[in-house]
Formats: sequence, structure tokens, C-alpha cells
Amino acid sequence: MQIPFNSLKPGYERYREEYIAAVTRVMDSGWYILGEELSSFEQEFSTWLGVDFTVGVNSGLDALTLAFRALGIKYGDEVIVPANTYIASVLGVTENGAVPVFVEPTQYYNIDPDKLEIAITNKTKAILVVHLYGQPCDMDKIMEVANKYNIPVVEDCAQSHGAVYKGQKTGTFGKIACFSFFPTKNLGAFGDAGAIATNDKTIADKVRIYRNYGSEKKYYNKVQGVNSRLDEVQAALLKVKLSHLDEINKDRLRVAEAYLKGIKNPKIYLPKILPGVSSVWHLFVIRTLKREELQLYLESHGIHTQIHYPVPPHLSEAYSSLNHNYGDLPVTEKLSNEIISLPLYNCISNDEISYVISILNAWEYR
Ligand SMILES: *Cc1c(COP(=O)(O)O)cnc(C)c1O
Repeated sequence: MQIPFNSLKPGYERYREEYIAAVTRVMDSGWYILGEELSSFEQEFSTWLGVDFTVGVNSGLDALTLAFRALGIKYGDEVIVPANTYIASVLGVTENGAVPVFVEPTQYYNIDPDKLEIAITNKTKAILVVHLYGQPCDMDKIMEVANKYNIPVVEDCAQSHGAVYKGQKTGTFGKIACFSFFPTKNLGAFGDAGAIATNDKTIADKVRIYRNYGSEKKYYNKVQGVNSRLDEVQAALLKVKLSHLDEINKDRLRVAEAYLKGIKNPKIYLPKILPGVSSVWHLFVIRTLKREELQLYLESHGIHTQIHYPVPPHLSEAYSSLNHNYGDLPVTEKLSNEIISLPLYNCISNDEISYVISILNAWEYR
């Protein structure tokens, strides 16, 4: 049996007719950028999330970059970021010239709220949290520290569309939430797309101006903006997918629950779930001390896996100028050596899941 790490096709085929109809509608309309489809998607996304404003942009990274820009973050400022994250989270900070201050994760792989306070200096202008792998961060504790120091929180929800912390959706805790709709995300478009969500009208207006060359009124430019718009075709497709998102997330939960229940190998550590949260299982990440061996073993049985992520941002060549060394963030570094992501995608069959489980359980660690 061959099991890919991910396959977007079966998830697409499930709603194929609706997607085709949406694309056709946009093509036939003759209007392709900044139109009705985007504004209705923004409205529907705000309603779904429970916020006042959504502003569509071109990608998750643009959402992060423009979120920090709208907060006035600039050269010399510091932003607290999780050490255990995808590099794009950090790029949004450094794109504005600010310095990322890395904070280690807890056993749930998300930023450790107990290590936040010591990372705060008089230069700290924001705290970025990432709900990694689909699991919400410990928001009560994070908001308590942020409120104590009056520092805005930005939520990177690129992996957490619909994830809930104590009855409240991720993306509704901080000042700004940033979403990616990259095709592989839980709410994925058919190309690049992203959005910011906020209850702050000033922030929403700023991002709306930045995304369109810095202009509010055509050809009258207030600020030096960028070109970062979510196009009409993607917006129309995202409306279809948003209407099925609960079902899509439920299907990922089916896979995760089967893995949690079925994998019983003492040398494999399963993901832990913070009490009071529900994950949307963007990724199912296990750990083992012999990661390379396990990955090769699975590969030899036709099971394809990935590592999210093999190099933590602070050790990335891209950030060599930050002068971090191996050993600076030992929890993150250890994780990056042990983690491995199992196949998880919409409409993967129960037989395929059972096969992965049985191969994992038969793994002899030596
Ligand atoms: C995917 C991702 C991003 C970047 O989103 P793009 O749309 O690919 O630019 C940012 N942060 C996290 C945590 C992500 O997973």
C-alpha cells in the first residue's frame, strides 16, 4: 500500500461541483480583483469567526507582515515569538525590521506562558502566538501576561482555523489574528491567499489600505503600501470551503482520534492535548528518539511522512545574523530532532489509517 503524506484531491472531489460553479460564476462576471466575492467572503469569515472585520490579503505571511506594520512595529522593536514554529511566523516580524525574541514551548509544543514574562523588555511591542499543528495555545495565561504589560497579542492561526480554547475560537483572543489559506491548510484555497481578522476598525482600515498600494481612494496614496490582495476566484472558492469547514475539520478529527487510540508503541510519543481545548489537527505530530530510522522504516512500507520542522527558525541559515547557537533553545532543538508528521488529509480511508497504525505498532526500536 502507498500512503502519501498528503493528498488534496479527495477533499476537492467531495465538493467538486460547488467549486466548479464558484469559479465559473467569477469568470463569467468579468470582475477579478477586489469585488463582490472578496467582500462577501470577508463578511462570511467574520461571522464564522465572530469578529467585526476580516481583510483578505495574498498570503499568511502577508497577513503577519501587514498585521505588525499596522501595529506600528518597526526597526529596533522586539516581538516575542514562539521558538517552535514555522519560519513564516518569524518572517512577518523581521520583514518590518523588528527583532524576534524566541520563547520555548511547553509539552503541548506551543509557546510556554510561564516563560513569557522574562522575555519582555521595554522594547517589546507585541507577542506573537502560533496555534501550532491546530492546537490552541494556553490563552488565559498568555492574555494575563499580555494585559499586565499592555502588549498587543497577534495570533498566527495559519494552522488553527476553527480550533477552540475553552469555548472560544482561536483568532478572537488577541488584537489581530492572521490566517493563511495556502492549499494544504485546513481552510485552503486553490492558490495563495490569507487574511487578517480583528475587532479594531483602525487596524482593519490600515491593512485594507496597505494591501492596495497604500491607497484608499484610487490613485491617491496615503502610505507606501504593497500589492497583496485576495483575488475573486480564490475568495469564491474559499466561500465554498468555509461552508464545509466544520465537516472538513471533523474528518481530520476522525483520523487523529484513530491514531491516538490505535498507536501503541512504547517508543513513539503521541501528541498531548491541553485540557479545555479542541485541536483541528492540521498536523498529527509524533516523536521518537530514532526519528530517521522510523521515517525510513515507514517509507519502506509505502508510508510517506514529513518533518514540521527540521530546522527551528533561530538556527535557520536565514537568521544567522541573529547569532543564535545550537543549545540556546534546547526544548525546541530537541523537538526538531524527534518529531515526525503522519499522513493526515481529508477523505483518507479508515483502511489506510489502520495500515499506518499497524505498521507503527510493529516497529521494533533498537
Ligand atoms: C503556512 C503558515 C504561514 C504562512 O502562510 P502562507 O500563506 O504560506 O504565507 C505562517 N505561519 C504558519 C504557522 C504557517 O503554518
